[in-house]
Amino acid sequence: MENGLQGKKIINIIHNDNIRSKETSELLENKLKQYGYIISSEFDYNAELSICIGGDGAFLRAVHKYNFPYMPFVGVNTGHLGFFHEITPENINKFVENYSKGKYNIEDIYLVEAIVCTRTSCIELIGVNEIVIKGIESKVIHLNVSIDDDHLECFSGDGLIISTPSGSTAYNLSAGGSIVYPTLKTLQLTPLCPINSKAYRSLQNSAIIPDGMAIKINPEYRDENTVLIVVDGNQLKYDNVVEIIIKLSDMTLRKLTFHSQNFWSKVRDRFI
Ligand code: NAD
Repeated sequence: MENGLQGKKIINIIHNDNIRSKETSELLENKLKQYGYIISSEFDYNAELSICIGGDGAFLRAVHKYNFPYMPFVGVNTGHLGFFHEITPENINKFVENYSKGKYNIEDIYLVEAIVCTRTSCIELIGVNEIVIKGIESKVIHLNVSIDDDHLECFSGDGLIISTPSGSTAYNLSAGGSIVYPTLKTLQLTPLCPINSKAYRSLQNSAIIPDGMAIKINPEYRDENTVLIVVDGNQLKYDNVVEIIIKLSDMTLRKLTFHSQNFWSKVRDRFI
């Protein structure tokens, strides 16, 4: 490092455009400075922590934008649900005090990885919540699904969600999937409107896939040769996809926790 910041405690603050987020960002910056932290004007990959102010969507976008850096993230919730968040704007003083005293834990959030191959090339995608495979323009999609080369089904319907444990409370839950405790190293394969008729047979329920097993998906094209792949709400279109291999990533996202609320009470408070 040649900027004279050696040994300095650098923190990134990322906020969305909402007024409450901007106000919270200013208050937080002032508080952190009182404790001797330096707030970087641009995202600094050498920072010891990244604080994201906004809702779940803002948290997910920040992690993707900075490409899953190694430093831990923590969220201040100014959105609606705040499933990823540990801090509210009302308790930022307490957060800074606890953080400066090292009173926190770091939790690993498991990520899902997809290798998408067309006839000419392959690309890698990483998701925090989920990777969804859908047809375009509301068309039925037909997907051959194998687990570790064992053929499971030829799915027909709206699509498939492959969710992480942390993402199990998001789109997966709305689609009838189960809530998975975040420390369980698994993926969940959840159907979106599976068709069951004399023409098509698709599993109606979710399947839990253990770490180390790969989900292999081969689209079967009828009228269309385009698939939509939606990663944490971000939609991508691919033509002529031959194969998609999905598994738990070796990488994790590190998130600060304060054990102020346990997982099941968080589920109760957010959903019931
Ligand atoms: P968004 O940011 O508006 O989020 C949609 C809702 O999902 C929000 O209420 C958000 O708080 C909640 N959410 C996000 N991650 C969560 C999690 N891990 N646990 C519980 N709730 C969570 O929408 P977006 O930017 O389009 O996509 C972000 C996420 O929204 C996606 O990753 C997907 O899981 C979710 N989503 C849900 C549905 C649905 O439930 N029908 C549909 C599309 C997307």
